[in-house]
Amino acid sequence: MGNITFTMIKPCAVSEEHTGEILSLINKDGFHFVAMKMLHISKSQAEKFYAVHSERPFYKDLVEFMSSGPIVAAILQKENAVVEFRKLIGNTNPAQADEGTIRKLFAKSVQENAVHGSDSDENAEIEASFFFSQIERFYK
Ligand code: GDP
Repeated sequence: MGNITFTMIKPCAVSEEHTGEILSLINKDGFHFVAMKMLHISKSQAEKFYAVHSERPFYKDLVEFMSSGPIVAAILQKENAVVEFRKLIGNTNPAQADEGTIRKLFAKSVQENAVHGSDSDENAEIEASFFFSQIERFYK
C-alpha cells in the first residue's frame, strides 16, 4: 500500500477557473501536496504520458485535449493514496460518478473529466517521475 498518487487538473477545469476549488477539496480530504506545478504540455509529451492508451479509439482526441491548454500537475501524499484519491474523484464517466466527487462536480464529459488520478502505486511513481524530480518533492 503506497502513500503517494499523481494527479493533473485537466485543461477544461483549469480554463474554467476550478483549480482553487479542486485543490481545496483535495486538501480537505486529507491529502498533503508533495509537489505541484502549472504547465502546458506538448502533443508529444501527452502522447508519451498516455502511451498505455495508444490503441484505444479515444487516444488521439485525448492527446489533443490534454495538450490544448495549461494543466496543474501534483504529487499527493496520504495513507493508501491511490485508492483514496480514486474515491475522491469518482468514476471516469461523470454520469456514473457519485454525488460530491470531483468529477461529478466539475467534469463536462467522459473525456473532459476535470482530473487525472493514478490507477496503481506503480503508475503513481511512473507518472510522478514524468513531471517531477526527487529534489522537487516535499514529503510530510
Ligand atoms: P481514468 O483512470 O478514470 O482517468 O480512466 P482511463 O485510464 O480509462 O482513461 C484515461 C482518460 O481517457 C480518462 O480520464 C478520460 O479523459 C479519457 N477517456 C476514457 N474513456 C474515454 C472514452 O470512452 N472516450 C473519450 N473521448 N475519452 C475517454
